[in-house]
Amino acid sequence: MNDSLHVLGIDIGGTKTIVAIADNNGAIIAQDRINTPREQGPSVVLASIEKALRGLITRHPLRITSIGIGCGGPLDRERGVILTAPNLPGWENLDLCEHFEGLFGVPAYLDNDVNLMALGEARYGAGIGVDYMTYFNIGTGIGGGIVIGERLYRGCGNAGEFGHQIILPDGPECTCGKHGCLESLCSGTAIARRAREYLQMPENSASLILSVARGIQAVTAHHIAEAARAGDELAQRIWRETGTYLGLGVANVISILNPRLVVLGGGVMEAGDLLMEPIRQTVQDRAMTQLAADAEIVTGRLGDQAGIVGAVSLALEGEHDEDPSRGKWIALG
Ligand SMILES: [Zn+2]
Repeated sequence: MNDSLHVLGIDIGGTKTIVAIADNNGAIIAQDRINTPREQGPSVVLASIEKALRGLITRHPLRITSIGIGCGGPLDRERGVILTAPNLPGWENLDLCEHFEGLFGVPAYLDNDVNLMALGEARYGAGIGVDYMTYFNIGTGIGGGIVIGERLYRGCGNAGEFGHQIILPDGPECTCGKHGCLESLCSGTAIARRAREYLQMPENSASLILSVARGIQAVTAHHIAEAARAGDELAQRIWRETGTYLGLGVANVISILNPRLVVLGGGVMEAGDLLMEPIRQTVQDRAMTQLAADAEIVTGRLGDQAGIVGAVSLALEGEHDEDPSRGKWIALG
């Protein structure tokens, strides 16, 4: 391996963006975390990312051979184009790879941010050495990723949308425009909405959640976890219910893919055992016994670094993989 090869990674989020420079083993040498000024439109966001990248390169003058970019989708990975980005107004049909290739003169590769978190966990986190891994990211929304032998399974391009499996046919409206998806029940936003609905009932007016959050409108998943740990019954019920819905989602994925490992990441998982316990219980109760026994369910190891580690992995994969079917469905070995 040539130690002079280095790559850039970019993990674009709705509020924060991480940029990094890494060596050809995927070890991050330096990184920078910047705000995403999304309200000011794509050109301002892209200029601030460029500035951060140039700052990294100035401090670490290394030869860059490729760039890996993670961003919310849907996107056209092969063309390197964002199709629509719900969290990034004005990014429709944005040719992200061409932009960065033009700036830095090296190939750029694009993939869904949660796919890259899955890849990061598979190669450098909870899934090291695991043959069949699935990943859920439970945060503002819910995304997923399927990793087979360290490779992402992408289907026609956007496989692994675990957040949009239907849990309740007549459930709440989802961000995707349909109803009753896992995301419409268990994203951080949805958990807070369900909590507010409970808190509006007179019998719940004494719930600790209200005093922790200082008012019903300010309630977040974080407040509900705090109240649950302090013994609040409603808060504990909300986590049990959330864990049951999530457990059904995990059980469905286990039934379809029979993974060895299910990794759960994202900010909502900071609730820890409040969620893990009912998730594991529901999987045990609802998934087929053998398939449930095959799958270990764990929390992610990389925390909010998973996306940037995955972006670096994507850059390296692009660099070393000449296969024209790259990433679509790569057989093991
Ligand atoms: Zn949906």
